[in-house]
Amino acid sequence: MARKLSQLDRIPISELRRLGVERAAALDEQFGIRTVFDLLTHYPRRYIDRTHQAHIRELKMGEEAMVLARVERVASRRTRGRPPKTLVVATISDGTGRLQVSFFNQPWRAKQLHTGTEAVFFGKLDQYKGQKQLTNPVVDLIGNQTGRVIPVYPQSDKARIHSWDLARWIEEALERAGDFADPVPEWVLDRFDLIDRTAAFRGIHLPSVPEEHRAARNRLVLDELLRVQLALVERKRHIERTTRGIAHGRPGALVERFWKHLPFERTLDQRRAVDEIADDLAKPYPMHRLLQGDVGSGKTVVAVAALLVAVEGGRQGAFMAPTEVLAEQHAAGITALVDGMTVGDAGATLFGERPLRVELLANRVGAADRRRILAELADGQVDLVIGTHALIQSDVEFASLGVVVIDEQHRFGVEQRAALRDKSGDEAVPDVLVMTATPIPRTAAMTVYGDLDVTVIKSRPAGRQPITTSWAKTEDDEADVWDAVRREVESGRQAYVVCPLIEESEKLEARSAEDTYARLEADELKGLRLGLLHGRLSAADKDATMHHFREGRLDVLVATTVIEVGVDVPNATVMVILDADRFGIAQLHQLRGRVGRGSERSWCYLVSQSDTPEAEARLGALVASTDGFELAEVDLELRGEGTIMGERQKGRSDLKLASLRRDRMWVERAREVALEIVDGEGGLAAHPGLVDDVGLFLDEDEKDFLLKD
Ligand code: ADP
Ligand code: MG
Repeated sequence: MARKLSQLDRIPISELRRLGVERAAALDEQFGIRTVFDLLTHYPRRYIDRTHQAHIRELKMGEEAMVLARVERVASRRTRGRPPKTLVVATISDGTGRLQVSFFNQPWRAKQLHTGTEAVFFGKLDQYKGQKQLTNPVVDLIGNQTGRVIPVYPQSDKARIHSWDLARWIEEALERAGDFADPVPEWVLDRFDLIDRTAAFRGIHLPSVPEEHRAARNRLVLDELLRVQLALVERKRHIERTTRGIAHGRPGALVERFWKHLPFERTLDQRRAVDEIADDLAKPYPMHRLLQGDVGSGKTVVAVAALLVAVEGGRQGAFMAPTEVLAEQHAAGITALVDGMTVGDAGATLFGERPLRVELLANRVGAADRRRILAELADGQVDLVIGTHALIQSDVEFASLGVVVIDEQHRFGVEQRAALRDKSGDEAVPDVLVMTATPIPRTAAMTVYGDLDVTVIKSRPAGRQPITTSWAKTEDDEADVWDAVRREVESGRQAYVVCPLIEESEKLEARSAEDTYARLEADELKGLRLGLLHGRLSAADKDATMHHFREGRLDVLVATTVIEVGVDVPNATVMVILDADRFGIAQLHQLRGRVGRGSERSWCYLVSQSDTPEAEARLGALVASTDGFELAEVDLELRGEGTIMGERQKGRSDLKLASLRRDRMWVERAREVALEIVDGEGGLAAHPGLVDDVGLFLDEDEKDFLLKD
């Protein structure tokens, strides 16, 4: 009978004949491998093709070489230098020639490479006293594995689990598993020219020629991505089917008046975004849309338009910011945007209209005002409320909440949605728009936010001046930076100075900010009006400083990353980031986005004397580009997907083989297939084998929620 993956996931690896309890424990500890399924999805990290290794005789000095050779002898000694090092020297031979291989400070190599051992050595060929040699090469032991193509598995020297052990266990597991059931429909395999699952598992682990593992990889990559996409698409459709939402009207006179009210023209992307959102709002199930747009792309007016659609239908809108400071800033901004606008109200005296009411619900609001606002939210007198996430978590009651906007938070996940559903009680569930200024590449978004709809704003408002970014590498460069700050301040502009990031300690970070502040005030920026902002100041102090800076009563704001998100002071034209190499690309881009918000030209200075390759790559990218999406691609390239995946809950760790970077095409294909299956005849349930696959990486709660309607 053909095996399902879920069956293999129930067989502990200790069932394998050649694998005892102790090794089983080590496999779990080192690799999280517990079941036969885990073992079979522990994929080779590369392959050695015996027929394609270089011959020692032909190796050239200075070249990267990979040779398959046998150890002839090995010796270990201490060097005379200070401090003394252990030096292990092996002589290896492949029948065409001999080579010295030296290892410094790796004493265990003497045991590992005993005479007769066959291994692949990978490194750069150099010369020592006229002898060709490899120094500290990468070594892959292949034991007594036979065959032309040898898989090399991620191994653990520490637990002494070697690649060939894994190969042995996996071979046994494959043999005993026999044929795999293949739940992926024939038409999918045909469309993408894919091999069946049994062939794929054999091909990835035991290819007889190198081409075989490529075909196998394609198939298993699709399997992984399809599982994730099926779960995401099914979740999305499930919510649409089972949650009652509000079918809002189309944007009407109120929204039209709002556009006329704006002191600028909407960009094309802003129009398109509002159209997409309006379509969602008109549907009878709740919207859950992500609005991605680079810093300064103008997401706020799009959000306000969405809120006004709710107000136009006699409902309320809520706008949630991640922090109190930002909630206040948004409240001020939004109040200004809608200043003087009125809404239809049959009971109102003023020609059936009354002023549009916007309120801020923050900690700072006094108890009496708070009570009043809560009462007015409950009876519908307040149209728009702005606050932090406490708005949906606490006891705030709405007369009729229609649209919720969540700014700068990508963690609005399943639980928060549940909270919102609970909050609505028997009422329909409000529509949700999540905004983020952290662009992520399209296919990554499909995987990480695949249960959301995504709108992207790419164009920037016209008339924006570009931000010139430079990297201040030397002390002279840094001196120029402070001169530039002075020049800008003299012509009436303002500047930010971001202090070195100290992770894991807000206290140390605050201290470093205080030191920087004191130093700049006494020295480089003497005579300018400096303010200090860090996370350990009281809310009142933070507010006061921000307020003064916004009002132009401070020239320079010395701050930690508390200013990373959302702070909007158009008169600020200089951003100086100290020890910039400590920040990630996304964070640097966010920080830089604090300037270039007005009509004046802006500058960003990255101060760092670091010359590591990572610093070069990151800071170089920032200097070269101001496009958030482009930078996100670079970031993905540099850091891998782990970081993106880590941002959202589960299942993503299921990607063992697929790479969001390399396999973009397969992400798109998996998405396409998942949509066809879930929206097709009988839905996902018509494919019990796929349901079984999807269940592999969902926990019990999620299974209940998704797969057991
Ligand atoms: P973000 O996408 O970073 O949240 P904001 O919505 O805060 O951007 O907008 C940044 C600034 O650009 C604000 O001052 C806003 O008023 C202004 N803005 C937004 N849209 C336009 C536009 N179409 N033309 C000119 N300025 C705009
Ligand atoms: Mg914003």
